[in-house]
Amino acid sequence: MALESLSMGEDFPVFVVSGRDIILKTDGAALSSADLDVFLSSVEVLDSFTEKDFSLSAVVLAPDAVLPQGFERVAMRQFFHTHGETLSFKAARAKALANWRADVRFCSVCGTELADSAEFTARECPHCHKLFFPRIEPCVIVLVSRGDKILLARHVQRNQDIYACIAGFIESGESAEQAVVREIIEETGLTVRNVRYRGSQSWPFPDQLMLAFTAEYESGEFRLQPDEIADAQWFSRDDCPASPQPGSIAYKLIHNEI
Ligand SMILES: [Zn+2]
Repeated sequence: MALESLSMGEDFPVFVVSGRDIILKTDGAALSSADLDVFLSSVEVLDSFTEKDFSLSAVVLAPDAVLPQGFERVAMRQFFHTHGETLSFKAARAKALANWRADVRFCSVCGTELADSAEFTARECPHCHKLFFPRIEPCVIVLVSRGDKILLARHVQRNQDIYACIAGFIESGESAEQAVVREIIEETGLTVRNVRYRGSQSWPFPDQLMLAFTAEYESGEFRLQPDEIADAQWFSRDDCPASPQPGSIAYKLIHNEI
């Protein structure tokens, strides 16, 4: 499988992405080939490609692109919530590949500008022939329970207006379960037991794979990591503060849907 130039007229969905949004018609419909003609003649396109093996095409706009009349932005998270598994997968892949293509441009061995591989969805160095495949960054996200209460935290750096699950990147050498235990003790001072895998979600902002877990409180008092966690509390599921919206695996964890 490999990426090709944008191929119009295929019976593929075309995902127009801009920042963390996907572009739909104002009536919520996906863009047809005719709509794309309007688009491509009036909006600056940063990148575009078709991947026939996964039956998808993507058009990439700047995050602040001004849209022609008749089109609107929808948060990708919302798109994941309202569309089925197949379309959500393709949209996530289109967005992840767009991020990767913008980011991986020069060979890390010899510095030569990379070209698209003719054989794989990868970039290839024309000089030393090293291949660069799309990256995935594995992360853990965990909902800790204590009796009928759940642990939610407000982060310092991101989404400061909501209470969310504890999450973080898996460090080299760690299992996902070890990352869960480490993240919780680092960020909150608590220890946990019964770490259980619940499911996963592609989260292409820019390239995470979220591995979702539940765990039970074991011991300790709150000792919050000041540069990461502004506040952490035990909440009842039916009395939660503002928390992640539908479409994220965090929402499913909090609302006991996985
Ligand atoms: Zn090279």
